[in-house]
Amino acid sequence: MNIALFGGTFDPIHLGHIAVARAAMADPRFHLDQVRFVPAELPPFKQNEHITPFDQRFAMIALALQEAAEPRFVASRMEAPVAGRAAAPNYSIQTVRRFKASLKPEDKLFFIAGIDAFQDIAKWREPDALLRECRFIAVSRPGYSMGNALAALPASFMELRANIFLLESVHADISSTRIREAIHAGAPLNALVPNSVADYILQHGLYH
Ligand code: ATP
Ligand code: MG
Repeated sequence: MNIALFGGTFDPIHLGHIAVARAAMADPRFHLDQVRFVPAELPPFKQNEHITPFDQRFAMIALALQEAAEPRFVASRMEAPVAGRAAAPNYSIQTVRRFKASLKPEDKLFFIAGIDAFQDIAKWREPDALLRECRFIAVSRPGYSMGNALAALPASFMELRANIFLLESVHADISSTRIREAIHAGAPLNALVPNSVADYILQHGLYH
């Protein structure tokens, strides 16, 4: 099996995330059998921000994937809170190692990241190890240059360049930040999130 992990905060999941996953799934270079959406309990770079509780973010992912009607998209609880344990930042290298332990030797593991996230990979925990453990799919995002991002990587990463794939066909100008701001301002949400996610946000009074 070829499996991609798609990590993030997903606060909330939006149609940009779905477009990213669909583009990765459709790309013949990857032959993906599955894309696993992995919301972080505590994203390392957002520890000082207010984040919606994990279970609500997870519920919105489940709704969005149901609406996407793509059985190869799976919502993962790999970075879910553990009962009785204080929240600790979720590092991708730990998640990847844990997940790889459950794979067969012939399985191939990918990690999907938008180029805004990927360009900072040198600041992630054990970035060299991470780039060796799995292949990265770095996805275009409006406002970010793929070339600049690659040029900004430490020279030592260039020997791992064969593990970095650029997926440049995504042009969805959507972010969770913009969605939270829109809701806060009372603006409509159409064409930003799946309908079932918009309903959930309204029902639970999120982001007001
Ligand atoms: P926020 O504004 O809160 O940071 P976000 O829209 O960036 O939210 P995240 O949960 O931070 O969403 O992103 C998860 C992953 O999805 C990251 O790798 C991010 O780069 C990628 N991603 C999110 N939106 C897009 C998009 N529109 N195009 C390409 N990649 C995206
Ligand atoms: Mg983000």
